[in-house]
Amino acid sequence: MQTNSIGTKERAALKCPVCKSPELRATDLEAGLTFFNCPECRGNWLRGAQYWKWLQQHGPNLPQRSDQDSGLSLVEPDIHIDCPECRFRMVKYLVGHGFSFTIDHCEGCKGVWLDRNEWEALRERNLHDDLNSMFTSFWQDAAEKEARKKRLERIYVSRFGPHDYAEIERVRAWLATRPNKQDLLAYLTDKDPFDV
Ligand SMILES: [Zn+2]
Ligand SMILES: [Zn+2]
Repeated sequence: MQTNSIGTKERAALKCPVCKSPELRATDLEAGLTFFNCPECRGNWLRGAQYWKWLQQHGPNLPQRSDQDSGLSLVEPDIHIDCPECRFRMVKYLVGHGFSFTIDHCEGCKGVWLDRNEWEALRERNLHDDLNSMFTSFWQDAAEKEARKKRLERIYVSRFGPHDYAEIERVRAWLATRPNKQDLLAYLTDKDPFDV
């Protein structure tokens, strides 16, 4: 047995919940926090208790950043996975905040599965110390609203074309700032505003 494998005497080796067969190996992706990494899909398993301990040592919650995007390659396997420790079906939680990926959470052991580069992407924006908040309905409601907005935006873009959509958004934003918005709208939609 390899020394960096977690197949220690006291517990059986953990298998990747996505690829099924490869054994997860302990890795030091983050100082003071042990992840178990899949050598095949590069996903990471994070134990709930370890995350809480790290979070306490980590200090105050870092302010979120929106200026960081190093273009990390993210994958989102569209499959439901089972917890590698207790076999519970894991629940997908939206991250939001501009990210379209989800993270998987085990309601049993509180462990978290992060696909390749997801932890790194969260860390870039200081969202890596917010995993606990992501599992709340408050966070999920906001993330769902954001996802709904994005879906509708795609529909409008395909309906109007990207140029016209950008133009109408500009006009909308301008209208919103005008005190006589209703008059302007009436003028705009009137078939012939000079035929009074
Ligand atoms: Zn894997
Ligand atoms: Zn579990």
